[in-house]
Amino acid sequence: MSTNPLLFVNARQVVTCAGVPRGRRGAEMSAAAVRTDVAVLVQDDVVSAVDDERALRASARQATVVDCEGGVLTPGFVDSHTHAIFGRARYEEQELRATGVPYMEIARRGGGIHASVRDLRTRGEDELYALAEPRLRALAACGVTTVEVKSGYGVTVEDELKTLRVVRRLARALPMRIRATWLGAHEIPLEYRERADGRRAYLDLLMNEMLPAVARDDLAAYADVFCEPGVFTVEESREILSGARAHGLQIKLHADELTSGGGAELAGELGALSADHLAAVSDAGIGALAVHGTVATLLPGTMLFLGKTTQAPARRLIEAGVPVALATDFNPGTSPTTNFPLILTLGVSQLRLSVAEALVAGTVNGAAALGLADRVGQIAPGFSADLALWDIRDVRELPYWYGAGRCRASWARGKPCHAHDLALPFPR
Ligand SMILES: [Zn+2]
Repeated sequence: MSTNPLLFVNARQVVTCAGVPRGRRGAEMSAAAVRTDVAVLVQDDVVSAVDDERALRASARQATVVDCEGGVLTPGFVDSHTHAIFGRARYEEQELRATGVPYMEIARRGGGIHASVRDLRTRGEDELYALAEPRLRALAACGVTTVEVKSGYGVTVEDELKTLRVVRRLARALPMRIRATWLGAHEIPLEYRERADGRRAYLDLLMNEMLPAVARDDLAAYADVFCEPGVFTVEESREILSGARAHGLQIKLHADELTSGGGAELAGELGALSADHLAAVSDAGIGALAVHGTVATLLPGTMLFLGKTTQAPARRLIEAGVPVALATDFNPGTSPTTNFPLILTLGVSQLRLSVAEALVAGTVNGAAALGLADRVGQIAPGFSADLALWDIRDVRELPYWYGAGRCRASWARGKPCHAHDLALPFPR
C-alpha cells in the first residue's frame, strides 16, 4: 500500500553519507557528504530523492512537509552491538571496581555476568519485554533507527530461546529495525564450569541443541561468540561459528577485548561480518580483518566505563584498510548507555577519528557490520528512509555537546520512532 510521501525541508545541513553501498575503508571514511539547501523526499519506506529544495518543493506538491526548522538531518544511526535484554542493573559493581576490587572477587560475591544470567533465568518473557522496550525507545531517542540485540544471559536452551523470542516481539512491535544475534556462547555457565567435562558438555549443548533450535524457529540472523582467553578459545569459537554458518546464520565475534588471543585472525579467516571490541588486537589480526573486509566494531564506551586507559587502535585499523564501526555495547555490566552521540564523542576524542569518520562509523559501517550496507546507513535514493533530526546547526556539534540529548526526532522506514518536543522552537 502506498502512503503519502514525506518531504523534509529547511534542514541547515543534510549529512547523507552517500556513496558506495558497503563498508567504507581508509580515506572513504572521511567523506560524510554534508549538503546544504537540499530536501529529502521519502516515498513509502525508502528515500526517493535528495535534491535542491526549491526543485523538490515544486515537483512534490502532494507530499506532507516535515519542517526541520534549521536543524541537521543525518541517517538514522546503526547500533550494531547491544545486549539490551537483561533483568536488573548492576550499578553496585561500578563502585567496587573503582575501589580496586578485582573482577574475580566481584564474581565471587555474586556479581559479574553470572549475576545477569541468574537474574534473567528467573524472569518471564513478558517481564523481559517490558524491561527492554523502554531501553530500545531510549536508543531511538538518541537517533538510533537500527539496532542489533544479542541473547547471552540465558545460556540454557530455554532461556536463550526466551530471550530471542523477546527480541522478535520487539522487532514486530517497534518501528525501529531490530536484528537478533544468538550469543549462547557468551560464557560457560557456572553449572558447567563446576563439572570436569563441563566445557565439552556445554559446547555439545550449543551445537546439538541450542543452535538447531534457534535456526529451526528462525530466531536470529547472526551468531556471535565471546572469543577471549578464559572464555571461549579460538578452536571452540571456530567450531561454534562454523556450525552456525552451516545453519544459515551470519557470524560475528567478540574478539581481543582484553588480550590478544587470535580472535581477529579467526574473524578474518571465517569471513565474519564483524569483529568487535579489539582493544588488544594484534598486527596480524588487523591484517586479517583488512584482507577479508571484516568490519572492526569499536566500543569505546566500554573501555571508558571500565576505567581503562587503553582503547582499540582505530587509526591503525583505518590506515590498514579495515572498515571501522562504532557501537554502544549497551549492557548492564560494562556499558550501560543508550547515548549513541556520546559514542561518537568518544570516537573523536578517544579513538582520534574525524567527525566524518565517526559519522560513517555510526551509519554505513554499522550497517555493514550487520550485512545491511546495501540498503541502510545512507540518505540516498533507494535506501531505507531511516533519518534522525538534530537540534544543532552544524554536524560537528553532534560529538561536541557531549552527553547532551539533541535528537529532535527519528524515523525508521519512513515511520516515526521518536519525537521530542516538536512544538518547541530550537534554542539558538
Ligand atoms: Zn558485547
